Amino acid sequence: MEFSSKLIEKAVNEMSQLPGIGKRTALRLVLHLLKQPKEQTGFLAEALMTMRADIKFCESCHNISDVAVCEICANTSRNHQTICVVEDIRDVMAIENTGQYKGIYHVLGGKISPIEGVGPSQLNITTLVEKVKLGGVNEIIFALSSTMEGDTTNFYIYKQIADVEIIISTIARGIAVGDELEYADEVTLGRSILHRVPFEKTFKNN
Ligand SMILES: [Zn+2]
Repeated sequence: MEFSSKLIEKAVNEMSQLPGIGKRTALRLVLHLLKQPKEQTGFLAEALMTMRADIKFCESCHNISDVAVCEICANTSRNHQTICVVEDIRDVMAIENTGQYKGIYHVLGGKISPIEGVGPSQLNITTLVEKVKLGGVNEIIFALSSTMEGDTTNFYIYKQIADVEIIISTIARGIAVGDELEYADEVTLGRSILHRVPFEKTFKNN
């Protein structure tokens, strides 16, 4: 793509770094901004800069938060003895949207994936294991997508906490294998949390 302006080219190149945004879309967005009042671009740039600079990760569950402890962890009316283990913040949002879950979360920040070079140490696993071993947790619910990486991650965590006396369950698989949680409809996802099954059953009977 040839540009008559280096400034446009630079903006397009930056914009096209975003997932799902090709050069053509980036150019369309940049030209759109050019047609808007200057302040509009200022608002966008400022929102992005402040978001990046000020966003925090909850020190307890690693959920994205504006303060040190996220709203969910700080909410005393939630059940702090049940922890739902998810891959990322999009899963927290999806499960929260079902309105069916009143426990708290633990955000791993990904899944174990040897192909993508993601090992257990790059994920928030240690803090989860420590939390469970400290006591006060009754149940862990695995809610990772049922891909090979999801299963590997569940099993890795399971092995670390198998000797602790707690319930370890996994969401019911109304969700088809390989489906990402965030795409599951709210009713299905809500039901799969309510009808969760003991984790051991999912691999011991196979
Ligand atoms: Zn939290």
